[in-house]
Amino acid sequence: MDTITTDGVVLARTFVGEKDAIIKILTTEAGLVSASAKGIKNMKSKLAAGCGVFTFSEFLLRYDRGKYVVASAKPKEGFYGLSAHIERLSFATYIAELTRTFAPSAEDAKIILPLVLNTLYLLANTNKNMSLVKCVFELRLLCLLGYTPELDCCSLCGDTEQLYFFSPTSGGIVCRSCGKVPDACIVTPDALTAMRYAQGADEKKAFSFALSASDIDEFERCTESMCESVLGKKLSSLTYLKQITGKK
Ligand SMILES: [Zn+2]
Repeated sequence: MDTITTDGVVLARTFVGEKDAIIKILTTEAGLVSASAKGIKNMKSKLAAGCGVFTFSEFLLRYDRGKYVVASAKPKEGFYGLSAHIERLSFATYIAELTRTFAPSAEDAKIILPLVLNTLYLLANTNKNMSLVKCVFELRLLCLLGYTPELDCCSLCGDTEQLYFFSPTSGGIVCRSCGKVPDACIVTPDALTAMRYAQGADEKKAFSFALSASDIDEFERCTESMCESVLGKKLSSLTYLKQITGKK
């Protein structure tokens, strides 16, 4: 029987039977893992506080007969601001599902965990525009996982002029003459400038810019469609988020 000590953030929790739960944790040492949290519904459970959804904890995980079992979970940050607000919670739920669906390896998990924690912090504790936080997260996640969209020249012909469209299946920006590809959507110069900034800035500064609501919509359309194209599906938490925010 092996044990590992690892930091990790809980991205989902499903109750099983009367008292137990299976939690999905993005860990620094083992990537994305499913682990059994036994007795978690018990009022006196010592695991409950550290195994809540979106909680960042230090875990001791036992690997037993092909499965992880949570032996201990010491919470470091609960992001409690999320649960009191349906919109914040809906954004965070999407961030968690998107991260899970990309199924990061152990190596990737280490790289993306700071981004996930920073994003949850902004959603829980600040009044930053949540759609802006979401689209910067999507873009940075794509880049960290090796799906960096081309934003400097046309993805199809390499031209650097008249870059008016974004096409996820082409891999990024496309120029006016290549813009007839079926999935091309318009992107304004301001939205493109913001995307370039968010892609290239240091981690701590990546979210520090302002953008008009309509440009945020365009940025979002680009990164959402790129995520959908890479994953090959639309996430249910995104459909729900659209209902909550009234966006289509
Ligand atoms: Zn072109």
